Amino acid sequence: MSKKTELIQSVKGTRDLLPGETGLWQRVEDEARRVFAAYNFREIRTPILEQTALFARSVGTDTDIVTKEMYTFEDRDSEALTLRPEATASVVRAYIEHGLYNEGGIHKLYYFGPMFRRERPQKGRYRQFYQIGAEVLGSDHPTIDAEVLEMLMLLLERLGLKEFKLLINSVGCAKCRPEYLKKLRHALEEVKAQLCADCQRRAHTNPLRVLDCKIEADQPVIERLPHILDHLCPECRQHFECVTTELEERGVAFEIVPRLVRGLDYYTRTTFEITSGLLGAQNALLGGGRYDGLSEMLGGPPAPGFGFAIGQDRLVLTVEESAGIELKPPLDVYVAWMGEAARGPAMRLTRELRREGVSAETSFQQVKLKKSVGLANKLRVRHTVIIGEDEVASGQYQLKDMETGEQKAVDKGQLAAAIKAKQGGTAGPAGEPSPQAE
Ligand SMILES: [Zn+2]
Ligand SMILES: [Zn+2]
Repeated sequence: MSKKTELIQSVKGTRDLLPGETGLWQRVEDEARRVFAAYNFREIRTPILEQTALFARSVGTDTDIVTKEMYTFEDRDSEALTLRPEATASVVRAYIEHGLYNEGGIHKLYYFGPMFRRERPQKGRYRQFYQIGAEVLGSDHPTIDAEVLEMLMLLLERLGLKEFKLLINSVGCAKCRPEYLKKLRHALEEVKAQLCADCQRRAHTNPLRVLDCKIEADQPVIERLPHILDHLCPECRQHFECVTTELEERGVAFEIVPRLVRGLDYYTRTTFEITSGLLGAQNALLGGGRYDGLSEMLGGPPAPGFGFAIGQDRLVLTVEESAGIELKPPLDVYVAWMGEAARGPAMRLTRELRREGVSAETSFQQVKLKKSVGLANKLRVRHTVIIGEDEVASGQYQLKDMETGEQKAVDKGQLAAAIKAKQGGTAGPAGEPSPQAE
């Protein structure tokens, strides 16, 4: 009786990113780092594991994230721990814990990393998903909102994205929102019988979330509910007007969507989303907003904040479908050698190229010339160096340009320089618009 060993597979809703995909992931991350650095943001890395209370307090106890989606467990010493479902709460916790506010001024922070939510798996959505996010802590000035939105638009432009749209709104503050919520509750009392079961529940627990409902039949009813923009206090109204005016001054296109309230409890004033026509019904590519009371909710000093998180899984998918950026092939040179006498020189040349920052590959064994060229084509290298016995004798190796087919003898000491010179003309991200480009 032979029992086959059962194959262990990855956890449902998680996935492996294989080398064929990671090139694009790295390209997206490199571009984000460049753009964030240009706006004076610096990286912060916080733990994946946090105390459960951090998210219950910040994200909100009536949100889907906290009630249904968190990976929470009891540690061996009975402490309640959670795999972070988002990173803003962690960043603000770190800001408070390390007293960054004592340094004064504003802090511009960005992060990359995996987040965990036990959602129903669907296209572009995973239970371990990745976010690229940024937070500005220490000021409630509307210029911050406008500047961060401008930065985001530049990033998406640099990634070659097409068909994206910035939607913005204001959800008011602790002063004006309760008054609006009272009106909203009142209006909901009259129409809630016509709404879906979730909306009927939210009408009591968290009426703002009704505005988020995606059920088709509910839409005409929700459209007629009072708009928060009509109920802002003078300070919130002025803040929102400053943000929109400054976006116009900066040449950033946007659309005001009074129903945009986002799913998290900690948002105040500006909320926004960027949607992509390429993502179908679940079309939000990223979102964020202002969270002026969050630091206090976590036991910290007043520290207004503004930030966003990009779903990297969806961003990569959209970048792929936009086909607006080109990836450089991973390898520059293939070194082909024929005859035992060429083996040593081939190894030394490969080593020299690699030390010079030219990525190179060679074979362990002798390979016939025709097969070598086929291999080089398969690797999509720009150049092949050919070394046979004659080349070893003369010290002049054959350098073949795989794009043009041109082949010439180059002194072995000059090869790295010759290859780098040719790359100089083509290296670097293709077709980058200048930051001022409209
Ligand atoms: Zn207000
Ligand atoms: Zn509904």
